[in-house]
Amino acid sequence: MTAATAKTDHWRPAYVGLGSNLQGPAAQLDSAFDLLAEIPDTRLIRRSSLYRSSPFGGVEQPDFVNAAASLLTQLTAKQLLEELKRIELRRGRKRGEVRWGPRVLDLDLLVCGSDKIEEPGLTVPHPGIAERNFVLLPLMEIAPGLTIPGLGRLANFPVNRDEPKISRIV
Ligand code: ADP
Ligand code: MG
Repeated sequence: MTAATAKTDHWRPAYVGLGSNLQGPAAQLDSAFDLLAEIPDTRLIRRSSLYRSSPFGGVEQPDFVNAAASLLTQLTAKQLLEELKRIELRRGRKRGEVRWGPRVLDLDLLVCGSDKIEEPGLTVPHPGIAERNFVLLPLMEIAPGLTIPGLGRLANFPVNRDEPKISRIV
């Protein structure tokens, strides 16, 4: 069954975190926004500025560029994640990469409606929201009033002061 035939019949907001640190990261994110806009039964509503962040996790690698997007979708969280993985592969992402290592494109499903899902291969809301400034700050820019299912208002989340610097670039 394709995603398009198994969609739900109502539109829900969903939020995606984008990251890249290879092959022209800013251009990678620009093209990723265009590909997000082409997901079936889904609309791209807002895109954040681009942010530059130092790598996390102790692997020596170039700085990351990060951003967030808001969507309206009729897809389920699982279907939407499949679409995100398809876009990653289309942009040359290799599976089996080092965790927290360099990547052409990383698309994380941060929030999908009021879903709270914890199953193998899919955790929503994404656990990185509260922990990583490179997820939190772009999301706050496009959705300052957002409530994260099970975690409360985004505006009340503390910015993590111990993390490497993050700066807005565009
Ligand atoms: P990370 O984003 O943690 O650096 P990956 O992009 O390689 O690492 O993702 C690893 C796995 O995380 C994916 O195969 C995916 O199935 C799983 N995963 C679980 N929940 C999510 C989510 N909300 N968004 C994106 N991937 C997720
Ligand atoms: Mg990912």
